[in-house]
Amino acid sequence: MQRFQQYIDGVFDDGSARFDSIDPATGHVWVSMPEAREDDVDRAVKAAEQALWTGAWPAMTASVRGKLLLKLADLVQANAARLAELETLDTGKIIRETSAQIAYVADYYRYYAGLADKIEGSTLPIDKADMEVWTRREPVGVVAAIVPWNSQLFLSAVKIGPALAAGCTLVIKASEDGPAPMLEFARLVHEAGFPKGVVNIITGFGPSCGSALTRHPGIAHIAFTGGPATAAHVVRNSAENLASTSLELGGKSPFIVFADADLESAANAQVAGIFAATGQSCVAGSRLLVEASIKDKFIAVLKAKAEAIRIGTPLDMATEVGPLCTARQRAHIENVVAASVNAGARIVTGGKARAGEGFYYLPTIIDCDGVKAPSFEAELFGPVLSVVSFTNEEEAVALANDTPYGLASGVFTQNLTRAHRMIRRIRAGIVWVNTYRAVSPIAPFGGFGSSGHGREGGLAAALDFTRTKTVWLRTSDDPFPDPFVMR
Ligand code: NDP
Repeated sequence: MQRFQQYIDGVFDDGSARFDSIDPATGHVWVSMPEAREDDVDRAVKAAEQALWTGAWPAMTASVRGKLLLKLADLVQANAARLAELETLDTGKIIRETSAQIAYVADYYRYYAGLADKIEGSTLPIDKADMEVWTRREPVGVVAAIVPWNSQLFLSAVKIGPALAAGCTLVIKASEDGPAPMLEFARLVHEAGFPKGVVNIITGFGPSCGSALTRHPGIAHIAFTGGPATAAHVVRNSAENLASTSLELGGKSPFIVFADADLESAANAQVAGIFAATGQSCVAGSRLLVEASIKDKFIAVLKAKAEAIRIGTPLDMATEVGPLCTARQRAHIENVVAASVNAGARIVTGGKARAGEGFYYLPTIIDCDGVKAPSFEAELFGPVLSVVSFTNEEEAVALANDTPYGLASGVFTQNLTRAHRMIRRIRAGIVWVNTYRAVSPIAPFGGFGSSGHGREGGLAAALDFTRTKTVWLRTSDDPFPDPFVMR
């Protein structure tokens, strides 16, 4: 059986303990993984602290840091097929998506490579004649980056890229579910030539490894992606080291279709919004709000599309929906769907696991009109769409905002003035109009409310990994004035 290794202080090792990783398409063990325990976490953070303050990294110019990031981007691109295959094998995410996603993982590294030498301080027009005052943007310190199982290469790139551009060092904890691509990625970091200790990649269980990492006194910033309940643990841990946090959490995003929308286009976008990535996407448009006058017609189109989806082995390029990542995840979905049916919701299609091996669940549409259905409220993180109708714009806005989450939203209409009103009124960090699930390194990404705070992507993300130092330089040759008066 293949054995993966963790990467600490520029060295690969087996970790304090080992655990088996399961192929979600078969439910069988396929590789052995290193499990980082508290000692490994401590070694990794100390290596990152050492690399932050001593050796080649702090002496390097921002332009050279950018060149290293460019090299990493090229290596990601050159090894795209292997990385995509490992992500598919270890998480069940379909190869069609992992191979496309790896291309823009390289793009994110390129974007932050270009940004490294554009992070500037400023000169202040200070209100004292004998002073020069300016600010420096310095690295915030050692960053703990924590990612969930879905899209680990991508979700870590949006943290590693800006953190390295800003001059930070990192300890990245990959999810215990599907860490293989991240441990393989560590080999590319090594090959790119980053000084030892700048990037450390470990994996292990949340309550032990993740918790030890987030409360470690050497950590200055925690960049976390995951669920809100885990985020609450992370924030409590940050009370011990007073680390700053950026939190990219879950969502229950509304997908709003008005009667005047291009229905074929909206239906395709809705398929992308809920069935792509087998619904295991933080921005999944899992609540369809559809204008009552077109509800039946639109659901019929969606039902036909859902039933035509090719479900299969994730390594087959023709597969459109693969297995869920874990048996635990599938059991959670089964429970919420059963509770929704008990509450009176009606299954339009799907609503059950696929027979046979692997953690498959059928693409599902549930009509929740007139019912308080748990599937309409809870994040399922699977291929389950809950539908409710509305009769006017006011009602659509109220339904869209009736959630503690606020990550993404979609609005489908051909009415320009209505689109603008909706953009203003929806409480979410992203509004897609007549499109869905589009991302770019140039555009900020993040949520409101229970979907977290802080933004990934764009220049602001790199600034989040800096802290400001204010420098005062006295230009007068006169003696220091009255020491008992603050100037
Ligand atoms: P979890 O919150 O369970 O886990 C996320 C990460 O946190 C994993 O690496 C996990 O480790 C780790 N972890 C678990 N417990 C702790 C702890 N006590 N201290 C520190 N770290 C811990 O999320 P899921 O794995 O269930 O992922 C799905 C969630 O992620 C969904 O809510 C989804 O919406 C959200 N998400 C948000 C995105 C965004 O950008 N907004 C993008 C993608 C997903 P381990 O896996 O080893 O338990």
